[in-house]
Amino acid sequence: MAENDGVTRPMQGVTNEAVARVEADAGARLDACLTLADPAAAGLPAVAGQAAREACALAARLQRHADEGRARAWLCTHLLRLGCYAELLAEAPLALALLDSAELAAERREVLRLVALSGSETGAHDAALDAAQELVRLTAGLGDHGTALSAAYGLAVCFERMGDSWQANRMLQQALNDHGAGAPDAVRLMALTALCAVAIGLMHRLRGVDAAADADTDAELHEALARARASGEQARALLARCPAPIYEVSILGNLGEVLLHQGEAAAAEPLLREALALATQRDLPAHSWRIQATLGDWLLAQGRSDEALAAMTALIEQAGAAAPQQTVIRAHHVAYGACRALGRYAAALSHFEIVERSERRRATAQLRAQSQLFVTRTESQQAQWQAEQARLEAQAQRARAAEFAESAEHDPLTGLGNRRHLARRCAELLPGAERESRPLALAQLDIDHFKRVNDGHGHAAGDRVLVMLAQLLRDNTRSRDVLVRHGGEEFVLVMPGLSLDSAAEVCERLRAGVAAQRWADAEQDGLALTVSIGLAAAPGYEVADLLHRADEALYRAKRDGRNRVELASGQPG
Ligand code: GH3
Ligand code: MG
Ligand code: MG
Repeated sequence: MAENDGVTRPMQGVTNEAVARVEADAGARLDACLTLADPAAAGLPAVAGQAAREACALAARLQRHADEGRARAWLCTHLLRLGCYAELLAEAPLALALLDSAELAAERREVLRLVALSGSETGAHDAALDAAQELVRLTAGLGDHGTALSAAYGLAVCFERMGDSWQANRMLQQALNDHGAGAPDAVRLMALTALCAVAIGLMHRLRGVDAAADADTDAELHEALARARASGEQARALLARCPAPIYEVSILGNLGEVLLHQGEAAAAEPLLREALALATQRDLPAHSWRIQATLGDWLLAQGRSDEALAAMTALIEQAGAAAPQQTVIRAHHVAYGACRALGRYAAALSHFEIVERSERRRATAQLRAQSQLFVTRTESQQAQWQAEQARLEAQAQRARAAEFAESAEHDPLTGLGNRRHLARRCAELLPGAERESRPLALAQLDIDHFKRVNDGHGHAAGDRVLVMLAQLLRDNTRSRDVLVRHGGEEFVLVMPGLSLDSAAEVCERLRAGVAAQRWADAEQDGLALTVSIGLAAAPGYEVADLLHRADEALYRAKRDGRNRVELASGQPG
């Protein structure tokens, strides 16, 4: 045993040390990978993406969940930059789940934005819309211009790709108006770049409407180009303050495209060439393909049809299925134009057919997405209406219940509370008073010879007297006192905070007030009215006991000649 111990312990120690070293190495390597993968460190997307991938694996192994979530989010960013949209969409769910449990809300919003963009690019419109709408929902309450603008941007891109450039354009302009000034440069740059791209998309759509363009369409097209140019130039100016290698490529490419369509081919060319060089240098294939398609347009505009055809054939071959659909359609479109110009009608026809088929497929997907969106919206609106209806119904019910409770506790003739009101108020008041031994008094008041009023002047006159008396009592008591009509011509007054002596003064004042009151107003000229009052006080905080003692005192007051206040003597019995 001793021997074994002697051998095993150092061995285990060595193993543990080795494991610890490996773990420490892995931890250090993870940190290094994270540094490389951070999108803020402007590395090449392919390199940064690879680092992110390794960081994901290391973080998973070391169970550093927050780091894994962050690494997966960054991987998504690089996949977008690389144009690997399908892969991004496959990665996103795990990233979103990890970020959710690590409570990395900002990173999670970024992944939602990336999903909105990638889904839009690949025609996965419902996934894109779900993500964009969740993003807008999440940012709504933040009161932060940057995130609000960024979310609006994501949703606008969805609309754009679903074929609603008008809506996208409107949303982006609105969001820039509302949040542009308050948003960080980087986000404004993104939104301006998007607005430029949306305006270009609008231009392409209007151009598709087409050949026999009417004056209105033509004006709209020129306006779209002007807007694209303005926002593109604003974005370009921002680049000086806020370097953004990816956007720089988009902005130069877009501006080149705008100039080309504005008939400034000579000015367009250097911009397009610079954009293409940057896209290649920065390893941005999706951007590069798009710019190549625009350069094909430019060649065509120069009458260099065979060069345009060769370039587009190479582009279609090279990009293949990896390129965004829109870019492939444009390449075929240019190739079609080139073939036609070259008199190669059969080839022109086949390019034309591909363009048409793709456009048709895209239009169908867009229609489906739009109809789905419409259905979703209608459903959610319906749900909102139902919720609103239920809310109003509940409110009405509560109001009815309150009204009922009110009427259930009130005497309709005098408007005072009734016995139920007394019971509820006493249940609220007495326990606290007892706990803190606060003084409290309860008086029972009964009209003397009330039967005579009824008999001599009629029941209606009796009613008027009751109403007037109630008012007199109300006027001469405090609002914190509880005054109720306890029965026919009997009233109960609870006076929290008053000792027996103080309450006796109040009761004496009430008695004298009633006796001095001229009841002529009640059309009872010459009517003399008096009351007898029995008064009890705490301690003895039970309402039944207080009532009982007050009632005994009242009985004595009646017995001893009426028109007097009698105090209950002593403690509860
Ligand atoms: P006492 O001094 O002993 O209290 O004599 P009283 O006549 O006031 O007492 P009694 O209990 O004999 O009569 C009370 C009368 O109050 C009988 C009843 O008709 C009348 N009364 C009770 N409720 C109302 C009401 O709502 N309106 C009218 N007008 N009279 C009522
Ligand atoms: Mg009575
Ligand atoms: Mg009476």
